[in-house]
Amino acid sequence: VSKSMGFIGLGAMGMWMASHLAEKLPQSTKLYVFDIVPALVDGICLKYPDTIIQATSPKEVIDQSEILITMLPEGKHVKAVYLGENGVLTGDVEGKLLIDCSTIDTASFLEVKDALSKKTSTAHLYDAPVSGGVIGAKKGSISFFLGCAEEDTKDMDQITTILSLMGSKIIPCGGPSLGLAAKLSNNYLSGIIAIACSEAMDMGMRSGLDPRVLAKVYAAGTAQNTICDRFCPVPGVYPEAPSSHGYQDGFKVQLMKKDFSLALDMARRVGSNNVLGDAGLKTYEGASEDERCKDLDSRVVFRFLEGNEN
Ligand code: NAD
Repeated sequence: VSKSMGFIGLGAMGMWMASHLAEKLPQSTKLYVFDIVPALVDGICLKYPDTIIQATSPKEVIDQSEILITMLPEGKHVKAVYLGENGVLTGDVEGKLLIDCSTIDTASFLEVKDALSKKTSTAHLYDAPVSGGVIGAKKGSISFFLGCAEEDTKDMDQITTILSLMGSKIIPCGGPSLGLAAKLSNNYLSGIIAIACSEAMDMGMRSGLDPRVLAKVYAAGTAQNTICDRFCPVPGVYPEAPSSHGYQDGFKVQLMKKDFSLALDMARRVGSNNVLGDAGLKTYEGASEDERCKDLDSRVVFRFLEGNEN
């Protein structure tokens, strides 16, 4: 591990990821951090005063760091951090390893990567979006979908060492931006399954079935999957699912709407025929704006659909 690292974006996910680095990096390694919300920077600096150093801009972070991790909401924020005033690319990037863990559109990522390669051939930027949510980030058990092939990068060992400090699985996806394409494909599928499971359970329950019996049937039958089981949208089926705790502490429905919309844009761009996509997006848009659902775990689509019966 290098002597100095940087982390930009200390939100719901980034705060835990940076905390793991602060706790697990060798004591001699310093971690420079930046976020536009000063209270987030102050908070983590107070918690790890011997390891974490406050920076005042992305430029200052990269000037001080050999490896940089970014964890930001959307493409526009990633572009602002890398390409904006006092951004990463205005600093000393020579020979550095940059890893963006944000879930964003592939075009924004490739624009930043292209700008970096125009500036230097010695620095490398990888997409490595994550899955596992805030709970996974806190536990250090998130998965990374990495935008490179296992065999074609000399950075693989270093990337594996760093990401392993924050998560438990790293899946190389083949090439630049393919980590993002994989993440969007995954979230499209899991978003569709949550809606399908909500509908299937609702019709079963209205026919007189206990949802716990239905869950057992799916688990024993061909419909077996994690969303109907560990993340069951119907409350009371799986005790640890967010639905059984008022849909708290999960993957916010607004984030699912964002990822779903990015996935559909990608589908259109590559000419994929996604017949369920528009209905899915409409459902997540509706739930994101519904007072009974917004800010809650995305599996709250069950409540949204149940409340909007024909
Ligand atoms: P968040 O909004 O909680 O955190 C993002 C942080 O980035 C905020 O603290 C914000 O102040 C900071 N930021 C924004 N613009 C900035 C700028 N110009 N300079 C510096 N800092 C800036 O988001 P999050 O939940 O941590 O998610 C981050 C990314 O991870 C998103 O792309 C999200 O889709 C993805 N993700 C989230 C989850 C989840 O469950 N929350 C799970 C998997 C993936």
